[in-house]
Amino acid sequence: MTMRWYECAPGLYEIDEFDCASCFLVVGEEKALLIDTGVGIGDLKWLVENRLTDKPYEVVATHNHGDHIGGAGWFDDIWIHPADANWKGDHTEPTLEFRRDYAALIRRREGKAYEYDPNTDIRPWPKEPAFRAAADGQRFELGGRTVTAYHCPGHTPGELVLVDDKTKALLCGDACNCNWLLNGTLAPNLRGCAQVALEALQRIAAMQGDGYDPEKVFNFHHDFRPVGKPLAPNVLPDLVCCLESLLQGTARYERVPDPLSPTGGDRTVARRGDVMVSCMNGDLEKAMGR
Ligand SMILES: [Zn+2]
Repeated sequence: MTMRWYECAPGLYEIDEFDCASCFLVVGEEKALLIDTGVGIGDLKWLVENRLTDKPYEVVATHNHGDHIGGAGWFDDIWIHPADANWKGDHTEPTLEFRRDYAALIRRREGKAYEYDPNTDIRPWPKEPAFRAAADGQRFELGGRTVTAYHCPGHTPGELVLVDDKTKALLCGDACNCNWLLNGTLAPNLRGCAQVALEALQRIAAMQGDGYDPEKVFNFHHDFRPVGKPLAPNVLPDLVCCLESLLQGTARYERVPDPLSPTGGDRTVARRGDVMVSCMNGDLEKAMGR
């Protein structure tokens, strides 16, 4: 039982954790960088060390949701932005129950059989990893290539996006995708949260060209793109426009089925191009009107 992986570009791997989430590995001449640890199904550490690289590597989390740090307990330490370093009590805390429930939700959604056993392959963490505070602009020097992390609050307060200077890939966790969730704790009200997210994403979008290639933007769930392939280049600009429309009062709201609802419910989204935006708790349209 092992996860599939894809080499998106030389030394840039996407590891597909049974459709739950993707982790990325960037391999330089001297070191490697593992970005995210997924839900923690099976043995990611073994896969990295026995199939993908024999170089020493560090681990960084894009953000603190349980489908991205669920495997952190198999590593000694993990870089994370300080604003995301405390997740105790959060509804996405990577407890064993959250991790098993999340994997079950994805199995139901996909209607596929997977070769892992939820009871034996989703196990308790063997230890708590040590946390290392990742700063905006943090550089990971891998030998012949540098990966730089940028703070991009919006989906979580401490979300990081990372740019690989060799491929100009933008590795963006959940900071940008087609079904984007706005965090409601960034400011006293949701309008303030949308403003924080907009400014953060505008800063990243402005790095296009010299910083990253808009044809190489990867989010960490491949249900919005073919596995191993980047997001369509319009997704980040559409997300920025959608947040602008929310703040300008011109957003187009719709009720849509909620793919992450365990009870088959629906929710309000604002739509712009290929992108839907909703908020993690409550109704987006009502919350924006407050
Ligand atoms: Zn997330």
